[in-house]
Amino acid sequence: MLDRIRSNGVVGAGGAGFPTYKKLEAAADTVIVNAAECEPLLHKDKEILRHHLDAVLDGLLQVVRKAGAGRAIVAIKEKYQELIAEISRRGAVDGIELFPLGDYYPAGDEFITVYETTGRVIPPGGLPLDVGCLVVNVETLLNVALDRPVTHKFLTVGGDVPQPVTVRVPIGAAYGDVLRTVGVDTDAVGHVLIGGVMMGQIMRSLEEPVTRTTGALLCFPKGHSLPRRYLTESRERDLIGKSACDQCSFCTELCPRYLLGHPIEPHMAMRGLQFNMVGDALVLGSQFCSGCNLCSLYACPEDLFPKDACLDNKHMMRAKSLEHPDLGRTDVRPHSMQEYRHIPVASLIKKLGLSGFRNVGELTEFSWQLEEVRIPLQQHAGLPAVPVVAVGQRVRESEEIGAAPNGLGVPVHASIDGIVTSVGDDVVIRRNR
Ligand code: SF4
Ligand code: SF4
Repeated sequence: MLDRIRSNGVVGAGGAGFPTYKKLEAAADTVIVNAAECEPLLHKDKEILRHHLDAVLDGLLQVVRKAGAGRAIVAIKEKYQELIAEISRRGAVDGIELFPLGDYYPAGDEFITVYETTGRVIPPGGLPLDVGCLVVNVETLLNVALDRPVTHKFLTVGGDVPQPVTVRVPIGAAYGDVLRTVGVDTDAVGHVLIGGVMMGQIMRSLEEPVTRTTGALLCFPKGHSLPRRYLTESRERDLIGKSACDQCSFCTELCPRYLLGHPIEPHMAMRGLQFNMVGDALVLGSQFCSGCNLCSLYACPEDLFPKDACLDNKHMMRAKSLEHPDLGRTDVRPHSMQEYRHIPVASLIKKLGLSGFRNVGELTEFSWQLEEVRIPLQQHAGLPAVPVVAVGQRVRESEEIGAAPNGLGVPVHASIDGIVTSVGDDVVIRRNR
């Protein structure tokens, strides 16, 4: 099973693209399907479940058997009542449980999902497997079940667009081609966030390609405050933080990882901007930051950037091989206020200025008349795939164009029929005429 999953190039479709074959090598007593999809404006997991439920449940049962797990839980927002009823009906015969999550952010952070569904706290810097859990994304399970090379990606196109949709796109398609195909006037778009409003990245070029981990393209008009926050330069962020942070500690009080009992205090990272207190254990707690962005985009009354202060510390710690003394500690306990400080998605939408956008994204079919795709050889955690095609070579959709490396990594495949026109960090394929 693991060989098959590897040769099909299946990776975690909801995050960093960790190769699934590697993740499934371990045993676990509980498998959790992370269908929380807690960021505003995202709809792909819900749509995949609506349209491909049997295949996702089949993938889940395969993973449960491989892990030797006794429990399978689907964690999904309780607002999706119809879907919950359908999953309960079809999953009951196999003992699949349902866990309805509140509509809050970040319910889909796997540390939170594991705690909510099982009551277990993953140690600081740990993994779900440390507490016997395997957390798997909806689209990853679909790819496990389909048992064919991963050549396409589901993603939501939303925000300031005429009609938000979820689409299935050939991997390697340029963002600009995707937007134009679904009816977005790219000349009128101010900015695009790739992935989500809380944890996404600002798009630098319409020529960048869709990969196996792209979850959304969210459009914003020029002048919208959210992309402006993402575009603030690091020196400006630090200078503002240094002069304006009043150490109110709201960022810490609402930090989901702090509330889980982890020794992270973003207001200390902000204080570190003043003093460069690199060796202080409280600043070192930045190591446990998930990057959820709640502190910067919701908690801070002064619109400062505590998340970036934490992530900067984290990078610096990695470079200096520093670790927090509580790394891996197993006796952490959630804060007594943990369950009362969930941030409703409705509040987030208001705070981020998203109320004017329709929060929908029905799965819709499009005919992709792409002239060209640019497929990166590194779309996953680990080593890049090794190119096995040459310029001028004809390839067919699903054909391997990059072989799995020696070490952690997976192969990559052509997503259209065509001729290879370039081989480097990416393989460019021009459609057959
Ligand atoms: S919430 Fe803002 S002002 Fe308050 S401590 Fe955190 S960064 Fe500073
Ligand atoms: S981004 Fe902020 S709120 Fe989120 S885990 Fe990091 S410090 Fe906590």
